[in-house]
Amino acid sequence: MKILVAEDDATSRLVLAATLRSLGHEVTTVEDGAAALDAWHAQEFGLVISDWLMPELDGPGLCRRIRAEPRPHYTYVILLTSLEGKDNYLSGIEAGADDFITKPLDREVLAARLSVAQRIIGLHEALRIEATRDRLTGLLNRGAILDELQRELHRAARENGPTAVMLLDIDHFKRVNDTHGHLVGDAVLREIANRLQSTLRPYDRVGRFGGEEFVVLITDGDAEQSGVIAERIRSAVSTGPVEVPGGPAVPVTVSIGIAVGPGLPDAPDGLLAAADRALYRAKANGRDRTEVELLPG
Ligand code: GH3
Ligand code: MG
Ligand code: MG
Ligand code: MG
Repeated sequence: MKILVAEDDATSRLVLAATLRSLGHEVTTVEDGAAALDAWHAQEFGLVISDWLMPELDGPGLCRRIRAEPRPHYTYVILLTSLEGKDNYLSGIEAGADDFITKPLDREVLAARLSVAQRIIGLHEALRIEATRDRLTGLLNRGAILDELQRELHRAARENGPTAVMLLDIDHFKRVNDTHGHLVGDAVLREIANRLQSTLRPYDRVGRFGGEEFVVLITDGDAEQSGVIAERIRSAVSTGPVEVPGGPAVPVTVSIGIAVGPGLPDAPDGLLAAADRALYRAKANGRDRTEVELLPG
């Protein structure tokens, strides 16, 4: 587990980090709450173990800041304290802490508390994956890919960089269902999702937008680069007919509409509408092709 430790006392910090490492965890240490918040912004930590009393930002303060910021993953927070008493316990809970460990540390108690943390973090993660995946294809679902697009637009605006979005629609997919049945249609959708995923770079994103339509986000993609990627996707999808159990293989093609900056809108809708216009042209111009809509700056 990736653990962030915030503790101002150097000896306690060293002992805690060494114990956590000896239990098999990956540990980052910082000296106060403010540094912890910076580290937490920069990386994903499943667990934060924070001392209670620290200069600048104390443990409960850090906890409150973590709880105030929505992040996709859950952060489990354990407060370390030598303070005793009900009032402290209640104020820690109120700040959003999940658990408390009193100093001096006991290795076995710590290990037991970590196993509880691990179970809760695992459950959160399973729920998060369940909520963001499309059941049929395993790709991001519509809500999740729209969230990614919103984040990507913010990133592009911040860094003044380009970004491109593609809308893909399988050609004449209704015929596949009509000819081979819905189950074969489903198998074709799954295979196309696999082909899409295996063609993309790890930092690009693909989701099922609905039905037989998919969305691909090309991080940092300008018009030329995204055109090249779209062509790669298009030929990968139609690379060969899809083998389906108990029937003839099904040939498939896809039409792609790309919308690309520099004139990026603030919200996903505008970009998707532009990609949809390009997709409409790809269909009208004969399908199995890519069209681009350039948004002027
Ligand atoms: P075009 O080339 O113009 O896109 O033609 P099309 O036949 O692909 O377009 P249309 O929108 O008329 O049909 C889309 C079809 O996709 C209709 C619908 O039954 C099918 N479809 C949507 N979702 C699913 C699904 O989850 N499974 C299956 N098997 N079919 C689906
Ligand atoms: Mg302290
Ligand atoms: Mg469609
Ligand atoms: Mg279609």
